[in-house]
Amino acid sequence: MSSFPLRIVLASRNKKKTREVSEILLPYGFEVVPVTDFADVPEVVEDGSTFAENAAKKASQTALHLGQWVIGEDSGLMVDALGGAPGIYSARYSGEGATDERNNQKLLSDLCDVPPEKRGAGYLCSVALSDPSGAIRAACEGTCRGRILTEAEGAGGFGYDPYFFVPEYHRTFGLLSAVVKHRISHRARAFARFIPQLVALRPQFAARPQDLQTGSVT
Ligand code: IMP
Repeated sequence: MSSFPLRIVLASRNKKKTREVSEILLPYGFEVVPVTDFADVPEVVEDGSTFAENAAKKASQTALHLGQWVIGEDSGLMVDALGGAPGIYSARYSGEGATDERNNQKLLSDLCDVPPEKRGAGYLCSVALSDPSGAIRAACEGTCRGRILTEAEGAGGFGYDPYFFVPEYHRTFGLLSAVVKHRISHRARAFARFIPQLVALRPQFAARPQDLQTGSVT
């Protein structure tokens, strides 16, 4: 590994998610640059029907706009008793102007009649890497199972974390340290698969977009 980190763009406007991805990638020699560091990058419309489609769309459209390699990440919570909702709509579950707090309130109210043994849920994270021509060069997913509590425990992480209880650790993601979350989370698992591909492609990061389009870089 080179002694200096290589900068790579993450197509996310979520500060807490960006921080998690930065912490996961830095030990492997990648410094994450959020898309918000660039002026006038159009917001990607997340209209895919799967996490993978949305991750690829975020990566590809942002890469084409910036002419750079870009990582796209789409993730969310799927609750068994809600037929997999909120799923790809996790960030906007409570509607227009959604916040983590309002999303959690809606989740609790939707699950108010559901007993503890039926509150199983899973997080899913989908990651995609686009080259500057917009072509997807790597894609991976990771999941993490748990269940939804009725009361918040801890304030760590973000989103649904204070209610997401991981049985093996007897704690919510809100209570677990970032170090532990970065080993067992859906995001950690997706990136564990993704990082070897990212490292393998690293020599190509200096290539010009036109070379990539013509296939002259292998
Ligand atoms: P995205 O930014 O469109 O991928 O939406 C991600 C949404 O899924 C977040 O706003 C959270 O609601 C939820 N989510 C994804 N990953 C996590 C996590 O690690 N902890 C808590 N909530 C998460």
